[in-house]
Parts: sequence; C-alpha cells; structure tokens
Amino acid sequence: MDKDILRLGSEALKKAALNEDAKNFVLQNESLFTVLKKAANRYIGGETLSEAVLSIKQLNDKGYVVTTDFMGESIRNEGEANQATDEFIAFAQAVKHETLNSSVSLDLSHIGLLVSHDLTKHNLQSICIEAATSNQEVIISMEGTDRTDQILDIYRETLKTHPNLGITIQAYLHRTKDDFKEILGLPGSIRLVKGAYDTPKNLSMPRGNQLDEIYLHYAEQLLAKNHKCAIASHDEKIHTETVKFIDKYQPTDYVLERLLGICNEELQSYKDRGYNCRIYVVYGKEWYLYVCNRWAEYPLNLFRGLADIVG
Ligand SMILES: Cc1cc2nc3c(=O)[nH]c(=O)nc-3n(C[C@H](O)[C@H](O)[C@H](O)COP(=O)(O)OP(=O)(O)OC[C@H]3O[C@@H](n4cnc5c(N)ncnc54)[C@H](O)[C@@H]3O)c2cc1C
Repeated sequence: MDKDILRLGSEALKKAALNEDAKNFVLQNESLFTVLKKAANRYIGGETLSEAVLSIKQLNDKGYVVTTDFMGESIRNEGEANQATDEFIAFAQAVKHETLNSSVSLDLSHIGLLVSHDLTKHNLQSICIEAATSNQEVIISMEGTDRTDQILDIYRETLKTHPNLGITIQAYLHRTKDDFKEILGLPGSIRLVKGAYDTPKNLSMPRGNQLDEIYLHYAEQLLAKNHKCAIASHDEKIHTETVKFIDKYQPTDYVLERLLGICNEELQSYKDRGYNCRIYVVYGKEWYLYVCNRWAEYPLNLFRGLADIVG
C-alpha cells in the first residue's frame, strides 16, 4: 500500500516535470516561483555562474572536491547547443581564475547530440581544451538507452586526443558487462551509477540485490586497479561496502560522489574519516525539471521540500 502511494507520487512528479504548461505556470507566477525556489535551493548551486562559483568555494572550503554541471539536456538546435558550450567554457575559465577545485560534468545532448555527431564532438573538444589548461576533467553523463552507442562512440573518439575526459557507466544495463570491460581498458575516468532512465524491457535490471551485487562487482574492479573513478550513489549500503574495498585495496584515484543536497550528511561522515568525497553541483535556470526529478526518484524528499518551504 505505502509502496503503491510512493509509486503514484513518483509517476505524478515525473509527469509534472515534463509538463511544459505546469512549468511555465510556476515560472511565471511570482509567488509560486518564490515558494518552489526555496525547495530548489537545497539541490542547486545557484541560477548563474557567479552564484555557482560561490557555492563551489564554500564546498571546497569544507574539504569537498566538486564537479559542476550547467543544467540542461536534449537541445535540438545548433545555436542553443553552442550557447551551452560557451557556458561550459566560461565555467572552466572561472574555475581557473578563481582557483576552484571542480571538474565539469555534462550531458552530450546539451551540447549537440540530437543535432549532429560532428557538432557534439567539436563542442566537447572545445570544452576539453579549455578545461585542460587548468587540469580539469570533463565527465560525460550517461543518458537513455537510445543514446548509449552514440555517447560511447564520441567518448572513445574524443578520449584519443583529450585525456582529461571521463564517462559515466550505468550498472543496471545488461550491456554494461561488455562495455565495462572495454572502457576499463581505456585511460579515462569512470563514474559508476546504477542508472536513472526508464529503459525498454530486457535492457536493464530493476533495483534490488542483484543490481547491488553487480554494481559492487564493478566498483571493486575499479578500486582494485586504482582506475580513476567516482562511485556515485545515494545508497548507504553501496558506500559502506565501497569503503571496505577502499580499505582493502588502498586506491588513491577514487571519489565517493553524491548530488548536492541528497544524503550529504552521510557523505560528510566519510569525508571526516579521510575518504575522498565529491559533490555534484548543478546550476542554471532549468531547476524546475531538476527538482521534480529529484522528488520523483525519492518522493519522501517532498517532505524535505515542504520543510524547506515553511522553514
Ligand atoms: C553524482 C551522480 C551522478 C549521476 N549521473 C547519472 C548519469 O549520468 N546517468 C544516469 O542514468 N544516472 C545518473 N545518476 C543517478 C543514478 O543512476 C541513480 O539513479 C541514483 O543515484 C539513485 O540510485 P542510488 O544508487 O543512489 O540508490 P537507489 O538504489 O535508487 O536507492 C537506494 C537508497 O538510496 C537512498 N536514495 C536514493 N536516491 C535518493 C534520493 N534522491 N534522496 C534521498 N535518498 C535517496 C534511499 O535510501 C534509497 O532507498 C547519478 C547519480 C549521482 C549520485
């Protein structure tokens, strides 16, 4: 019964996230905007680059490494893809000038994947070049299964000339068994996640013990080889087991990673015990979709949102 209600809530929030009318209504209604923004503040580093810089400084001062994403995805025209690319380049420049400790994280569909392969590669290379001038990494997020092959192709091709590139791998996909073997043989960093997107039947496994075991199997291989990696999860079980691998293999090139505002208290306890911890910060004006998604993936977060609004 409780599970059914949570599932219903999650589906409603996913619908709300994708409903353009609802989004425009909220964003154009000053009172609603102000109320929802209060709940959003927990999850975002700000709406602008300068606000993001301040948030990153604060996290760096607390001892966290950061990776930062300028919110957006599924751009369908070249002009907007180029604008997003310019923003990522401006971000990388700000990191250099402000001597921040942050890498760049991005969705390829934000910089041209739905427009053309060549445009995406060109934009990604421009970002990698700027980021490399101050040793920043650029980490590609993984999107829906209709995009996996394209994203992996662009990753492999670009990594040849831009070693500061990393990729995200989704443990829930059956194909990852083969992709992981191949990608582990490449020098780029790997962010390991369970996987967030709905997939066609038979392409992925559901949440549960089997997925946790497979996730941890990949995590152990990364840590045992000291392959540069991020073990990205909000699942306390996953990070508890990961820490055992870290103690066993003593890798140096890893981070435990969580999104800003989600289970960060536990992450702090790992940081305080000396483990490398990274917070994934997002910024930009597209926070409505982002916050609905954070609530949809764990509807109990709505109560936290309520507390943030009234508190
Ligand atoms: C840094 C980072 C980058 C990511 N990048 C990608 C990407 O590129 N592509 C992609 O497909 N997915 C990405 N994800 C999302 C990821 O695939 C999972 O969907 C997400 O992390 C939820 O899975 P989980 O392992 O955290 O826990 P789950 O197995 O979903 O849940 C286990 C437990 O973790 C806790 N938990 C999980 N989510 C929340 C939450 N939102 N709030 C509070 N508690 C929660 C709860 O206690 C829950 O019972 C990323 C996640 C992180 C942390």
